[in-house]
Amino acid sequence: MSFQALGLSSQLLNAISDQGYTTPTPVQKQAIPHILAGKDVLAGAQTGTGKTAGFTLPLLQRLMENHDPHQKPRRIRALVLVPTRELAAQVLESIKTYGAHLPLIAEMIVGGASINMQIRQLRHGCDIVVATTGRLCDHMNERNINLSNVEMLVLDEADRMLDMGFLPDIRRIIGNLPKKRQNLLFSATYSAPIKALANQILQNPILVEVAKPNVTADTISEMVYGIARENKRALLSYLIGSNNWQQVLVFVRTKHGADRLEKQ
Ligand code: AMP
Repeated sequence: MSFQALGLSSQLLNAISDQGYTTPTPVQKQAIPHILAGKDVLAGAQTGTGKTAGFTLPLLQRLMENHDPHQKPRRIRALVLVPTRELAAQVLESIKTYGAHLPLIAEMIVGGASINMQIRQLRHGCDIVVATTGRLCDHMNERNINLSNVEMLVLDEADRMLDMGFLPDIRRIIGNLPKKRQNLLFSATYSAPIKALANQILQNPILVEVAKPNVTADTISEMVYGIARENKRALLSYLIGSNNWQQVLVFVRTKHGADRLEKQ
């Protein structure tokens, strides 16, 4: 399948070919047509799967469908929430790369950067904001930002955001968005808290490659030996010797235990 077949515009197809991509990745194939159709999407996708282009390309196209070139200042129509500054910078870079032939403006709102500069950028206006939640809440507190025109919300690496304790911030931000909007949730894992968040935010979502909880890779077999504690080291030695294993990674519970085992 080609990128053309996904229904992307010629400007986006040009930007894609500038990057040298020839075929969409599985998550792109599955997610892009649904996002273009305006559906909410819950996608289980890790870094390296092409997930960023998977939401950025259709997001840009959706914004272009109702783009008003005379609107000044520009209003925030898409909000992408991410767990870290580094990821925010990567997502912004992708938006700029794929949107190179489009008149849309994207800004990054993250901690550790000048707040005054961000206030100026927000006043100047933009179509897309990529943000970490803490700094975005600071701007909401100070009434620097107007989120009442947001049409699309993306939660990228949502599982990491929950792990980092950002759920209250996420809830607050969502409370400030219009009720009618398109929601995209990307997460590497699909745990109970992610399911709960997805249930709250997403409306009849399309499921894309949803990762199963805690699965072992097909190439790994697991075995358990029930033996007395005093025989553990002898068994390990026997397994290594009898199987002629050349490389073995052993996990132990304590630093002290690791030292002792290494000496033995
Ligand atoms: P991500 O999973 O979004 O972090 O993307 C991983 C990498 O894959 C990035 O460096 C992208 O530039 C690259 N990439 C994304 N989509 C494609 C594609 N269809 N073909 C080849 N590379 C891609």
